[in-house]
Amino acid sequence: MADAVKRTILVTGGSRGIGRGICMAFAQADNRIYFNYLSDSEAAAQTEKLVAEAGGCATGRRVNVASEKEVSEFVNLAQDETGRVDVMVNNAGITRDGLIVRMKEADWDDVLDINLKGAFHCIKAASKIMLKQRCGRIINVTSVVGVSGNPGQANYVASKAGIIGLTKSVAKELASRDITVNAVAPGFIETDMTASLVDKAREAMVAQIPLGRAGTVQDIAAAVMFLASDHAAYITGQVIHINGGMYM
Ligand code: NAP
Repeated sequence: MADAVKRTILVTGGSRGIGRGICMAFAQADNRIYFNYLSDSEAAAQTEKLVAEAGGCATGRRVNVASEKEVSEFVNLAQDETGRVDVMVNNAGITRDGLIVRMKEADWDDVLDINLKGAFHCIKAASKIMLKQRCGRIINVTSVVGVSGNPGQANYVASKAGIIGLTKSVAKELASRDITVNAVAPGFIETDMTASLVDKAREAMVAQIPLGRAGTVQDIAAAVMFLASDHAAYITGQVIHINGGMYM
């Protein structure tokens, strides 16, 4: 898979935050990008515009990753229009935080359905195409807390730990067809997801980071670009931690 060749890149949750940062990183490498989002169509239009301004081409579609049918249509659209699916980035995610004794079943289900089952749907649909191509890159977005645990986030942490097991199992299943499957585990990254933290909580979080700052979406996008490149051809089933040293 040569870096210079135009590739078809799929990114879930590409309308905002880390997903938009990943779309922008691929735009600079001149790829054909398809991304999805759940509800914020203005943000999606903005991602399309920013990618175009960077010289790339991105199509955003409203697709709930929790729906197998919607995901299948999304992946097939990309294949119908370009004939390929080279990179599948499973980034879409939500939080519904709460202590376990008060956590509502719906909050458990929503987080698992979107964060974990969503990745399952995307991997299943994309890997069918990649298996025929005999090449592909699947990159899943987990989290530092999927390894460390975090009070108040049992549902989210379970989904992110599940992503790591999913990554390793699928990596073993698909390796013989030259499809690599890896995960990136962001630490504390400045996005809408973390914007609701009050200043004191933010300061306490940054104080735990040896590199002394929150991460940026570009920090995560750089690792995704690496895993999608030829430089990472011999890496599969791995979790790359990008957290400024907050967890070692
Ligand atoms: P964000 O700013 O809240 O953006 C989330 C994105 O996911 C949005 O584009 C959103 O679309 C989309 N999305 C949500 N539910 C969806 C669904 N059911 N189907 C399709 N798209 C959906 O989040 P972020 O901070 O960039 O996080 C991105 C990923 O990194 C997540 O998996 C998150 O768990 C992980 N992560 C983030 C951090 C952090 O510090 N920010 C740390 C570790 C891991 P809409 O706007 O339309 O809802």
